Amino acid sequence: MLQRIRGARIAVIFQEPSLALHPMIRIGEQVKDVLAAHESSSRSAMRQKTLQLLGEVFPMDAGHIAESYPHQLSGGQQQRVLIAQAIACGPSLVVADEPTASLDPSTQQEILSLFRKLREKFRLSLILITHNPALLAGFADRVLVMYAGRAAEAGPVEKVLGSPQHPYTRALLQSMPSEIEGHVNQRKSKLAVIAGEAPNFEMLANGCRFEARCADRMELCTKREPAAVNLGESHAVSCFQVRRVNGLEPRQSGAASDCRQSREGYGRRAVRGTKREVMALQGVSFAIRPESTLALVGESGSGKSTLAFCLACLERPTSGRINLSGRRNNRAR
Ligand code: SF4
Repeated sequence: MLQRIRGARIAVIFQEPSLALHPMIRIGEQVKDVLAAHESSSRSAMRQKTLQLLGEVFPMDAGHIAESYPHQLSGGQQQRVLIAQAIACGPSLVVADEPTASLDPSTQQEILSLFRKLREKFRLSLILITHNPALLAGFADRVLVMYAGRAAEAGPVEKVLGSPQHPYTRALLQSMPSEIEGHVNQRKSKLAVIAGEAPNFEMLANGCRFEARCADRMELCTKREPAAVNLGESHAVSCFQVRRVNGLEPRQSGAASDCRQSREGYGRRAVRGTKREVMALQGVSFAIRPESTLALVGESGSGKSTLAFCLACLERPTSGRINLSGRRNNRAR
């Protein structure tokens, strides 16, 4: 059952292409193996389809790439191979986990343009996981900002990047290098940082998870977790200050969410080397339509990859629901 979903309906592109590819097997064979896991055809038909797929990501030299080994390719070329593997069986959803993290800025832009082209050609829904919001303008349609396993802010990319409402989103955008680039007299300015550290999942206190690092915190923030407030145009923010500024009563998490609820992911992860488990993800809800991109943004440990694992059926959520094309996809444990 999972075999029919993974790769065929949902594909995942993991970080570090050099680790994802087998160093001793030619590229063409590695792409063909993905096809062979899902369909049976003659050797020549498989080879033909492999070259066609590589042609989608290497229009000029698919044949040469097919005969190469991974170490003969650049990081950007290796990433293109992973993209060819991801689209091999015609999935409707592709989850890309930090696909540009190890690439230089111009190669990052090439990879994003390739995603854009393939998204339109194959009507893909794309979930892009990143800790770098600078990549998103002109690429993503919607953004979900995550902090410590919770959705902090979600909405159209121009709203979230242009007018961020959650203190964490604001701090994240202010810490981007682009904020000081181009200003000669600011070149020597220090990059803004978010003071403190992400909370330890094993020692979570009551209250908002960002409270210890938040410049806008109030007494209430230490006592309860804020529920999401919908500011219109599907822009939702989980923050008591935003509720206060908008004249709304404080409401704690646990009541019915103001956000649209089409997909939920609740993930529990084992603590490495122990039998203990922590709740890595909770209260995350979103929907994505064909030919669009949702960006998941947040620092390490915010739950982005756990969400990707739940979507790709690599991890079973403890509760919640994930639908693909209207059908239930990953069942809770
Ligand atoms: S709820 Fe309070 S602590 Fe949390 S982000 Fe808002 S103001 Fe800051």
